[in-house]
Amino acid sequence: MTPAVLSVRNPRTGEWDYQIPATSAEEIQRLTDSLRDEQVGWRALGAEGRAHCLNRFAEEMMAELEPLGQALAVDTGRTTFAQFEAVKSIELIRMWAERAPSLLSEAERSGQSAQVPTVHYQHRLVPYSVVAVISPWNVPLLLAMIDSLAALSAGCSVLLKPSEVTPRFIAPLQRALDRVPELAAVLRIVTGGPETGKAMIDRVDAVCFTGSVRTGRQVSQQAAACFIPAFLELGGKDPAVILPDADLPLAARAIIRSAIGMTGQACQSLERVYCHEAVCERFTRELVDQLSALTLTCSEDGAGDIAPLIFEKQVDTIQAQVDDALAQGATCLLGGKPVRKGGIWYPPTVLTGVTHDMLIMQEETFGPVIPIIAFKEIEQAISLANHSTFGLSAAVFSADRDAAMAVAERLEVGAISINDASLTGIVNDVEKNSFRGSGMGGSRMGPAGLMRFLRKRALLIQTAEPAAIQLFSDSAQEVSQ
Ligand code: NAD
Repeated sequence: MTPAVLSVRNPRTGEWDYQIPATSAEEIQRLTDSLRDEQVGWRALGAEGRAHCLNRFAEEMMAELEPLGQALAVDTGRTTFAQFEAVKSIELIRMWAERAPSLLSEAERSGQSAQVPTVHYQHRLVPYSVVAVISPWNVPLLLAMIDSLAALSAGCSVLLKPSEVTPRFIAPLQRALDRVPELAAVLRIVTGGPETGKAMIDRVDAVCFTGSVRTGRQVSQQAAACFIPAFLELGGKDPAVILPDADLPLAARAIIRSAIGMTGQACQSLERVYCHEAVCERFTRELVDQLSALTLTCSEDGAGDIAPLIFEKQVDTIQAQVDDALAQGATCLLGGKPVRKGGIWYPPTVLTGVTHDMLIMQEETFGPVIPIIAFKEIEQAISLANHSTFGLSAAVFSADRDAAMAVAERLEVGAISINDASLTGIVNDVEKNSFRGSGMGGSRMGPAGLMRFLRKRALLIQTAEPAAIQLFSDSAQEVSQ
């Protein structure tokens, strides 16, 4: 049977100019069977052996750096960031190759039970056999690699399905992978959409999912029915709190990079700003001034600062939220309407006069919109920032680090950048969790990112006479009474 085919849109031209097969459930079954077999040898290679393969993979990825960057540039409509994404992914391969062996040897412990000292124990780390990694379109390569590399370093095999919206980078990635056959046997990459993703979850031992809350809920329900762990990294509605003594140009610069930099298409984009009323007008002016200097990349030569929207339908979500705010009395100081030139560009948009019951303050926008609310008391800012179903990350700006830290400690999110924004986007070695609806299942960053793929098996060695059966029987109780 010929596989179903999915068409892929070019975000810059708007043309549907690429196709991928939708991998069938039968093929997923065949691949997971093969991965299950191959994982045995991969685990037996040991941490050092696996690290050696990963380092070779990094070399092969370097050889594909240009094609990877080019494919990502077409996938996402971003040029500079596409190069950065490819380089960062290679750095990540090297990081795990370097760190995993020592982390794994430190975790394999042996000792004596404090409770029953005659029992000695040894811990063995047992990786999941097959891990599914399902990733989104906004940072296609990096988000496909983060979980995959940690799982592979831990000794698991991986079945990876990148998003069907941005699959062009898979070809150069697969070329690099094919030149490291040991790794190619335990990292299989499939193309397809939701149906392929669902077929994966039914056949693996753990699932890592990065994507929307809506899909994350479905993934976690299916994983629960299969009795496998689901590691979920989902959406966000990150707040920024600006205290009255903050460096306003710095805050504006950081917020712009976070909220607008990837055309707002990042989970950790700042999407709400709470600014102290004493400086709100000045901050807003500074923000609009800085934003006014930015241009869209919609000209013929592609020059400019703001790339097109990757996912066509995202424009409807963004516009619905902006229109809802305007209909309820908000003021649009900048932007507010898409520009269509083949692809769809959304200009930096600043909204004031917003209230918390508007969609723009409640739902993930995933677009370059900055709504601003002025606050009087810090308690009010903290309460509004926490008034969300999300809990991914946040930012606090103040000249007084202690004051910023005091606010940060009370925000119900997993990571807070102080006097900068979205630092989790560039710092991958510090552990953090996603709170509330933004995810679950342990940190994907730092050592925990590796350890979550390992179960601990205890070997318990009795060094004395085993206890007699009477200890566990009624008659023994009678004897001791
Ligand atoms: P999405 O949920 O639509 O799709 C993500 C992936 O899941 C895709 O590969 C898709 O094919 C697959 N999929 C869809 N339905 C499925 C199902 N029922 N079972 C299994 N797989 C299924 O997300 P998206 O639109 O591609 O990505 C944008 C979202 O991702 C945003 O909400 C963003 O905040 C979030 N995101 C989160 C992080 C994070 O680290 N927290 C990082 C990046 C993006």
